[in-house]
Amino acid sequence: MDGRATTVGLLRDNIRAVRQRIAEACGRAGRDPADVLLVAVTKTRPAEEILAAYRCGLRHFGENRIEELEAKLRALRGHMDEPPAVWHMVGHVQSRKAGRVAATCDVVHSLDSLRLAGRLERTCGESGRRLAVLVEVNVSGEGTKYGYPAWSAETRRATVEELAGLEGLAHLDVRGLMTMAPLGAPEGELRRVFGALRALRDDLRATLPFSDWAELSMGMTDDFEVAIEEGATMVRIGRAIFGPRNE
Ligand SMILES: *Cc1c(COP(=O)(O)O)cnc(C)c1O
Repeated sequence: MDGRATTVGLLRDNIRAVRQRIAEACGRAGRDPADVLLVAVTKTRPAEEILAAYRCGLRHFGENRIEELEAKLRALRGHMDEPPAVWHMVGHVQSRKAGRVAATCDVVHSLDSLRLAGRLERTCGESGRRLAVLVEVNVSGEGTKYGYPAWSAETRRATVEELAGLEGLAHLDVRGLMTMAPLGAPEGELRRVFGALRALRDDLRATLPFSDWAELSMGMTDDFEVAIEEGATMVRIGRAIFGPRNE
């Protein structure tokens, strides 16, 4: 029995199905599927599955723990360079691990403090790297405990004020916002959460024009279609591609 061929065949089918669902959601919203980046979230998946997904044409990969990412990069060294895989950090980053994240990742979706921004800026400055970052926002007030609060007019105002502190960090390229919707929320609640992130983005464009805040990283396996209808430019998808996780 060829277990690997089975895995690759299944992956290929899953990726095709996800791309199809992305295209259909874009169709409903009058959007171009080229404007929605598929980030395959590979946490808990072995390196060989990531390589198989790369060989199926995926280029963007997301992990949520730096230790796990570093181990996989060691295992995959030289196998995903032409064209290069792009690595996204989607999980919370402790400030003391900022250097390791800046050395391995291309995009950080989970910038959630000025302290972390300062650490990333410093290590990127030392290594002469530039890093793309998204600001994580907690729109719903539940679910994740990370992210800048934005579940009320007051918290939104305070967050916008705080984010002014990101201006002028020469090595950080502030690209937009990221959020996670509460798990299992009904569609109306999902639309409210994703719509609120988009509205915050529009606000930031007007008040903090040092970035165009173009990217909205929102949508996972259970809610990516609604997220796309509400304006997502990046979806972070694990289970719909790789199957259920044993966590
Ligand atoms: C695990 C994870 C995902 C992917 O979740 P799925 O439900 O498997 O698609 C997306 N974003 C973050 C931050 C994650 O931790």
